[in-house]
Formats: sequence, structure tokens, C-alpha cells
Amino acid sequence: MNGTLGSCLLAVCVLGINLMGCGRSTDVATDKASQTVYVDSKTMQAMVGPTVAETPALNPKTGERTLMPALYCPTCRRWHLVPSPDQINRLPGATKCHTTGAALTADGPWPE
Ligand SMILES: [Zn+2]
Repeated sequence: MNGTLGSCLLAVCVLGINLMGCGRSTDVATDKASQTVYVDSKTMQAMVGPTVAETPALNPKTGERTLMPALYCPTCRRWHLVPSPDQINRLPGATKCHTTGAALTADGPWPE
């Protein structure tokens, strides 16, 4: 019984060390995960900024809160504004491109 418990503790310990090591080696990936692609609702320019809980986010270039989260359109090859959660709930096609009808995706080439 004691032997089993000891093995379990050892496994948890090893797992914990692995997780910590993993966290250290993926620092770059973590940084990227804390970034979001936005489109400025005034200029319609796509840009990358730190992920924030509330939008619109502050555009450091203009000093205005005009940045809205964006989704990538693989057909237009550009980032489109994400509809508000309210619109997404009401309109089944809200997360599709208005022009081409293509499904928008969170993955795409990031704007510089
Ligand atoms: Zn599109």
C-alpha cells in the first residue's frame, strides 16, 4: 500500500517538474498567445496588440479605443471585424465573410 502511494507521489512529482520545464521552454508561444489580431474600426487597419478582456482596445498609434477583435478571411486574405457576441447569437452566418461567404478563422498570417 505504502509502495503504491510512494509511486504515485513520485509520478506527480515528475509530472510537475515536466510541466514546469515545459512552461519555461514555451515562453515564446505563451507570449504569442497573449496577443490578438485587431482591426481598427475607424481606419479598418489590421494590427496585433496585447489581448485585453474588454474591447474596443486602445490603439497605441491613435490613442483611441477603436480596436476590435478580428477574424481572418481565407478568401479575401484579409482580417475582418468580428461581429458583436449579440450579432453572433442572432445571426447564424455572423462569423462568415459578408463578401464571399467564407467561414472566418482565428488563424491567418498576422499583420505586421
Ligand atoms: Zn472576406
